[in-house]
Amino acid sequence: MTTHAPLAALTDDELTRFLLDQQEAYAQLQRAGLKLDLTRGKPSAEQLDLSDALLHLPTSTKDRAGVDVRNYGGLEGLAELREIFAELLATSPSQVILGGNSSLSMMQTTIVDFLLHGGVDSPRRWADEEKVRFICPVPGYDRHFSLVASFGIEMLTVDMRADGPDMAAVEALVKEDPSVKGIWIVPTYSNPTGAVVSQEVAARLAAMPTAAPDFTIFWDNAYAFHHLTEEEAKSADILSLAAASGHPNRPIVFASTSKITYAGAGVAVLAASEATIAWYLKHLSMASIGPDKVNQLRHAEFFGSAQGVRDHMARHREILAPKFDAVDAALTAQLAGRGIAEWSRPTGGYFVNLDVLDGTASRVVALAKAAGIALTPAGASFPHGTDPRDRNIRLAPSFPGLDEVRTAMAGVATCVALAAAERIAADRGLRVDTAQSAL
Ligand code: PMP
Repeated sequence: MTTHAPLAALTDDELTRFLLDQQEAYAQLQRAGLKLDLTRGKPSAEQLDLSDALLHLPTSTKDRAGVDVRNYGGLEGLAELREIFAELLATSPSQVILGGNSSLSMMQTTIVDFLLHGGVDSPRRWADEEKVRFICPVPGYDRHFSLVASFGIEMLTVDMRADGPDMAAVEALVKEDPSVKGIWIVPTYSNPTGAVVSQEVAARLAAMPTAAPDFTIFWDNAYAFHHLTEEEAKSADILSLAAASGHPNRPIVFASTSKITYAGAGVAVLAASEATIAWYLKHLSMASIGPDKVNQLRHAEFFGSAQGVRDHMARHREILAPKFDAVDAALTAQLAGRGIAEWSRPTGGYFVNLDVLDGTASRVVALAKAAGIALTPAGASFPHGTDPRDRNIRLAPSFPGLDEVRTAMAGVATCVALAAAERIAADRGLRVDTAQSAL
């Protein structure tokens, strides 16, 4: 592994030299005329191709009970696919329902139902509460935050750690304040840090005393089966933990096949207590006479079994793992030991979390943009898009080809080094011409 001296330990002359070198490297990068995109966690075309057998399925128009899937009905979703997901999520089929192509839309529907009707354990509808607050572990998934913000729900941040949210902070927030109604959790290979919620943290979430009787854990297990190594993380069984702690309705689990089959034409899943399932379906019945069972049947035929899903994910891994290795290699080659960046080496999921020198993330993203490398806006993983330390950048290497990931990440590393050198030089009062950066 390449190691470098920490930037802060360089003499003024050495730092000036380093900065000039980075400016030259950056000028070269700009001349290369790149057009690369590491912004969103989308599967690549090569990954989508893995599921193209779906285009010729289903072979039957009837489910195993003989029901014509082309017709209305079956709001809870196709039994055979619910069984597969129940096994994967370690719960029973009676606690699993299927939706359309988006789990995010099931999350939104759930929150709207809490607002307009109140949940199973709600003393009143959330819309009639003076205030509704959600705990948002940061960095986290930007769409979770914008979803609750769109309803005027106030967001309280806690740190996301390697084993889940900072539980002392979570417990303190929920204990006294009945307006704290929910928490977002991405338990497995979290977006964006790759953290996996430990058994201990899950057990504390399930058991903790909350002032709100209808406090809800939005357990978004979007990356439950999306391993990048042979060390496969096992998601904690939040439904059983909560039931055993006397809070059966506290967690609602979401997942989907968006990053298993087709991101735009998969099947979403919701798992919860039977009471919560009945509550959700009652309100859903006002909006739909039944889901797209043709799509559900072709997924059931395509997978065959829970093992079929696992085998399919191994093929995704073969495509994705080298891209994540390339991200780490590029960052290590240029930045290891410099004391100006830290990054995750996730064992699953879709993202690499890059923390750069405080106060330089926006500059890094702007430099990359001007060199033709699109990154997620700095701060995107924080409520309202504001990272108080301006240091966090979410990298999404799944969509571009492997060579593109290598090229883009070498460029990103140059931008990180340049922005850090500029900042340290400025802090020391060194006068270095940064005109070449032209920003
Ligand atoms: N949850 C998380 C944590 C995600 O990262 C994503 C996709 N980026 C989604 C949900 C979206 O899921 P779906 O396609 O099922 O709406």
